[in-house]
Amino acid sequence: MASDSKKPDLPSAFDTHHPPAQELIEKCVHCGFCLPVCPTYALWGQEADSPRGRIYLMKMALEGRAEMNEKWVSHFDACLGCLACMPACPSGVEYGKLIDATRVQIERNYPRPGADKLHRRFLFETFTKPERLKLLRWPLLAYQKTGIQAALRAIGWFKLLPKSVGAMDDLLPNVTPTEAVAARTPAQGGKRKRVGLLLGCVQRTFFSHVNAATARVLAAEGCEVVAPLEQVCCGALFVHAGEEARAKELARKTIDVFDRANVETIVINAAGCGSNVKEYGHLLRDDSVYGERAKRFAAKCRDISEILSEFSPRAERKPLRARVAFHDSCHLQHAQGVRAQPRLLLRQIPGMQVMEIPESPICCGSAGIYNLVQPDAAKELGDRKARLIVPLQADVVATGNPGCILQLQAALSRGHHGIPVVHTIQLLDASIRGLPLGALL
Ligand code: SF4
Ligand code: SF4
Repeated sequence: MASDSKKPDLPSAFDTHHPPAQELIEKCVHCGFCLPVCPTYALWGQEADSPRGRIYLMKMALEGRAEMNEKWVSHFDACLGCLACMPACPSGVEYGKLIDATRVQIERNYPRPGADKLHRRFLFETFTKPERLKLLRWPLLAYQKTGIQAALRAIGWFKLLPKSVGAMDDLLPNVTPTEAVAARTPAQGGKRKRVGLLLGCVQRTFFSHVNAATARVLAAEGCEVVAPLEQVCCGALFVHAGEEARAKELARKTIDVFDRANVETIVINAAGCGSNVKEYGHLLRDDSVYGERAKRFAAKCRDISEILSEFSPRAERKPLRARVAFHDSCHLQHAQGVRAQPRLLLRQIPGMQVMEIPESPICCGSAGIYNLVQPDAAKELGDRKARLIVPLQADVVATGNPGCILQLQAALSRGHHGIPVVHTIQLLDASIRGLPLGALL
């Protein structure tokens, strides 16, 4: 690291619109308690790829002692934004705000190489638009079911192409029949609450069965469920990649849609979306029209495991004999502080044995579009997680985020371990409906 002597003649590498805040940076006392939980530090052991190192790089850029060049940017591109460093920090450094502000600055001020820019644009224009994702369902189904995918993999075709293409093939979801969620699902028994369901983009297209299970369980627990069909992407991928303007636009639309739906609580079953909508107040803090509404909206948002664990169970849980390895999604455990609730729900199911996966604070490598833009690091982290899961001899892995489901499925199938990965709510739904585990797989 460079010396601390400031060169006041050099301008900051950041522009003046919300650079990473000096007072947040100064809270870091360089103790290093965050290092053991940081996945990129665990992989490479480099200070510049640790939370402490990245905060120091921000400080240098803020003070004009580092340029926003390729090398400097690479350390922030390599950060998963998993936020494992936050609960590990005894000084309360808000790394999430720092990395978000840094990423916005990078996207505004750093000219990315053309290919990188195009790749990112493609990902955003596809994964944040459910109507475009929907168009991919039939071609994907043909690709998977006619044996083309298996044949291309067998001849090693993807080794000849850029790694990001191979990563995309690895992570393709299995196309299953669509299960629609009604615009309104009535509560069973006396109504406890009227809730809105955020459908997600990838979730509603490729994990519609997870949304359907969520609506069924909520209804069985006495919630009237409203799923506004006009809802758009919540903007999570844009926020996590520093694309602030698009993220704000989508946040305003999401607030409008759910305000019109007149619901008491907004329920989210994708951890990446949940952590995003809970931060709308911060995202829209400068907005004179939406700022206060964004805070009120964020206060109403709950992960599905949070809201269900607030109720005493009403629907009977029927036995489901299975060994379940529970995987904590980073955006649930670190960003939202939700760890106990999904375990509590699983333990309510008679016959279910819940097992802990070692190194639970460490990310599986999914992290939004991370596994598509940083395929090598993501693959290493996925394989590391798979090596920890396999010895548990679980029948199934449960988690609360579609990105983690795809990442873990890819890692487990690379190692030829046929352990299925499902959303936590699917297990609860199966138990309430009296279905065997095999019905989910
Ligand atoms: S967000 Fe995750 S990858 Fe980034 S510095 Fe923190 S622990 Fe490391
Ligand atoms: S634990 Fe907190 S204070 Fe210590 S080095 Fe990491 S970010 Fe800085």
